Amino acid sequence: MKPDTTKPLPEPAPRGLICPRCGCAEFRVVYTRAAAGGRIVRRRECRYCGRRMTTSERPLGS
Ligand SMILES: [Zn+2]
Repeated sequence: MKPDTTKPLPEPAPRGLICPRCGCAEFRVVYTRAAAGGRIVRRRECRYCGRRMTTSERPLGS
């Protein structure tokens, strides 16, 4: 299954991900892409202060 980069649904942040600027834990996903090793890289933007960061996640169920 290839990653769907157009999906508008909000994605849950990885456990423990906290914005280093404002301390909140809600992020909007800017884009999603596949990475090496079957991982998924997501570019996230803080809903409150706009701080952007990149996360690398392991897909569930694999
Ligand atoms: Zn923030």
